[in-house]
Amino acid sequence: MSGWVIPPPSRALKSDEDLRAEREAKIGELGRRGLLRSVRLHRAMLNVAREDFIPPDYRDHAYEEIPLPLPGERATISCPHSYPLFYEPLGLGQGHRFLEVGVGSGYGTALARCVVGREGLVVAIELDAATLAFASENLDRAGYTDVVLVHGDGGLGYAEHAPYDRICVTAACPSIPPPLIEQLGARGRLIAPVQERTRQRLTLLEKTPHGVRSEVLTDVLYVSLRGRYAR
Ligand code: SAH
Repeated sequence: MSGWVIPPPSRALKSDEDLRAEREAKIGELGRRGLLRSVRLHRAMLNVAREDFIPPDYRDHAYEEIPLPLPGERATISCPHSYPLFYEPLGLGQGHRFLEVGVGSGYGTALARCVVGREGLVVAIELDAATLAFASENLDRAGYTDVVLVHGDGGLGYAEHAPYDRICVTAACPSIPPPLIEQLGARGRLIAPVQERTRQRLTLLEKTPHGVRSEVLTDVLYVSLRGRYAR
């Protein structure tokens, strides 16, 4: 795995146009790498300005493949490529009822909102109040107000809006929290990094008429899930 360092905080120097050009270049690269495939996610990544979900001190690094620190105890905004890495195998699409565990910056929440469209639903849970406040401000400012933001332990899911068609967990869990599997609808899919000794396995799970099927896609590196289903 290639290394990464968190850049020192600095004054933002790039213009909105510079960042727009970087966004388009990044989307082109993700397409060429075969990570970004669906039209709806492609459009969402063009529409959502990632720089608007990053603390001002790190704004110029919005399109670099490094996680960046967020307000709160243990939150980072994931690398740009990780969103298609999660959402494409998940098959996130129009009209889906979507649950996100670990809101972080709110960037993934905004992308999901664009992908599922008006017929869909986005519910996003964050454990850290400071992180959630940051995400909530970002989402409001960017105009993504039609999402259900929940302050709580995402390992417990959010039964009020279940069942979900798609669930995405962006924190590493020792095993998939059972309430999330319960809240997944028939033929629903869930994606999560699952800790296996020193490795984190990005795991895709699907509820089929014959039971739950699971598949390991690749290795990833995420902050650990906290709360009831932490190690
Ligand atoms: N998708 C986010 C990544 C956030 S990092 C983004 O790209 O911005 C993981 C997040 O999961 C952190 O914000 C952390 O506070 C949150 N988290 C950890 N355990 C949690 C839990 N049990 N319930 C909800 N959120 C949790």
